[in-house]
Amino acid sequence: MVPPVIDIEKLFQALDESANILKEELHLSYLDALAESGENLFQNAVLQGVHSFTEKRLLKKYEEIHLNQFSNEQIRKAFQLAILKGMKEAVQPNHEMTPDAVCLFISYLFEKLTVSKPSLRLLDPAYGTGNLVTAILNHTNKAIRAYGVEVDETLIKLGFVGSNLQKHEVELFKQDALQPIFVDDVDVIVSDLPVGYYPNDIVAKDYELHTTTMDHSFIHYLYIEKAIRHLKEGGYFIGMIPNFMFTGEEAKNLNNFIKQNAIIIGLLQLPLSMFKNEKHAKSIFILQKKGDEAQIPKQALLVDLPSFSNKQAMSGMIQRIDSWFKTNIYK
Ligand code: SAM
Repeated sequence: MVPPVIDIEKLFQALDESANILKEELHLSYLDALAESGENLFQNAVLQGVHSFTEKRLLKKYEEIHLNQFSNEQIRKAFQLAILKGMKEAVQPNHEMTPDAVCLFISYLFEKLTVSKPSLRLLDPAYGTGNLVTAILNHTNKAIRAYGVEVDETLIKLGFVGSNLQKHEVELFKQDALQPIFVDDVDVIVSDLPVGYYPNDIVAKDYELHTTTMDHSFIHYLYIEKAIRHLKEGGYFIGMIPNFMFTGEEAKNLNNFIKQNAIIIGLLQLPLSMFKNEKHAKSIFILQKKGDEAQIPKQALLVDLPSFSNKQAMSGMIQRIDSWFKTNIYK
């Protein structure tokens, strides 16, 4: 039986109210307080040194919530609502959580690309809050070993708490993902890429795609190279990239790098209406690392996605993508 939607609201309220209590008492940001509160809920205890009256108030809120009565998707969505609320306070565009509809759509693409694999290794090198990875884990029956790398302290705490609350084992590394990471090559990399300049020129020099013409290299280029390096042969990269990725002087190097090392499976442009500013619009880019298992599709999947809220157009698009997979991938 599908639990009623009202429960998401109930869980959101408990997270929100308890986060506000901790925010006030400990003078934290809402997002840090939310991470603390989520950890309390998971451990069924108040882990911070707070006034005994505050502790009682918090325990009362946690006692009203029985996590095992919620599905993982309900927990993800309630947590997502609270994070969105916190992100309204202050967040850089590069730290934004991957939107729910995109997470669900990438989960669908992930399943389509990995039908033949009952178990696999998955990495997100820009893990953020883990919204993207946990959505994928919630929509699969595969045995997945998941890894995440994230440099931001608050986001990785939220990511850690979110995966705990959903009972997913995700191995997380708090570090710069462009420096060496200690994860063996994986079958799939998913990532909503950070976009802009990467300040560490010394690390950038280790990448073929470092700039020779600008002050700093593009982080979104280095991430593509990093992803290809960490995939097994025939492995897939499913990334959210800026629409302007292939424009400008440096794009030639990126195109050559991709041609040498990977096969372009698809480029799916997200609806512009999803973005406050067209300059920040993104697409979903799918690559397969070259290798014996890799197969060049007759034609890459190139589409402009309709608005996710347009059910009819979306269902037509899914049929089109399903049939593209039949002709090009499951041959
Ligand atoms: N998919 C994530 C989610 O659902 O929350 C959102 C990813 S967000 C668009 C990009 C993330 O990349 C941010 O969380 C940012 O902190 C992280 N990031 C940026 N540069 C990084 C680096 N060098 N190493 C690791 N993470 C980095």
